[in-house]
Amino acid sequence: MERKTDKILMETRDLCRNFGALKATDQVNLQIYEGEMHAIIGPNGAGKSTLMDLIINRTRPSGGQVFFQGREITYMQPYDIANLGISKCFQISKLFPALTCFENIRIALIKRKGKTYDFLPKKKSYLREECREILKLVGMEEKMDDTAALLSYGDQRRLEIAVTLAMEPILLMLDEPTAGVARAEGYEIMKMIRRLAGQRQITVVFIEHDMDIVFHYSDRISVLSQGALIVTDEPQRVRENQFVKEAYFGGAQV
Ligand code: ADP
Ligand code: MG
Repeated sequence: MERKTDKILMETRDLCRNFGALKATDQVNLQIYEGEMHAIIGPNGAGKSTLMDLIINRTRPSGGQVFFQGREITYMQPYDIANLGISKCFQISKLFPALTCFENIRIALIKRKGKTYDFLPKKKSYLREECREILKLVGMEEKMDDTAALLSYGDQRRLEIAVTLAMEPILLMLDEPTAGVARAEGYEIMKMIRRLAGQRQITVVFIEHDMDIVFHYSDRISVLSQGALIVTDEPQRVRENQFVKEAYFGGAQV
């Protein structure tokens, strides 16, 4: 299936975020096409995480706009943005460590259904089958009753992705999905994300440090430096970009 189209799913226009004198996001015009795997790269502190947070209004913009499916979402509540179909998987784990995989997924499902914990039925098996289906997507159905804190780091990352999938995203944003795992496992996680994205027609934006993974798994790449978007292009052309050459391939410290 040809997944990449030129139809714009999400777009930022002159998006800015200042922290005092610091321009963490500096007039960013980013376009994400429907169906693509889009990597965001850049040195530490370049503003990658801030940009994602602005898109879901977890951080308030200092200026500019965000559009999703042609509709402005800049100042929408994060909860409403999630319901429109934008989900972010956080760099810092949002799992409940003392709960099982099943219970972690169930909380996400209950959130999506717009209920609160007060209405959580006492029945232990509530939503169990739905949760099993979601865990199956990341190959973890057998670990359903394992406690999150006791999982390997790689499985914790998978569980986080499953929790995010429970929100049925159209646009999935991943902040360093392979952080902290060995390279081989990082590839496995990315392979799984690409498979899920294809099967469920999810557009993926991911922040990644490992350049091999970036070039292997992205349809297009955006490069940020000091808050500004330097270039967005296909991997081969980004590789030829002077800034990228110096920052990543020229031995310069990033
Ligand atoms: P990246 O994810 O690319 O490493 P960040 O988006 O986390 O970069 O940060 C971009 C810049 O904004 C950094 O200089 C960081 O120190 C600064 N920054 C991020 N969040 C805050 C905040 N809440 N208050 C002040 N400065 C911040
Ligand atoms: Mg970051």
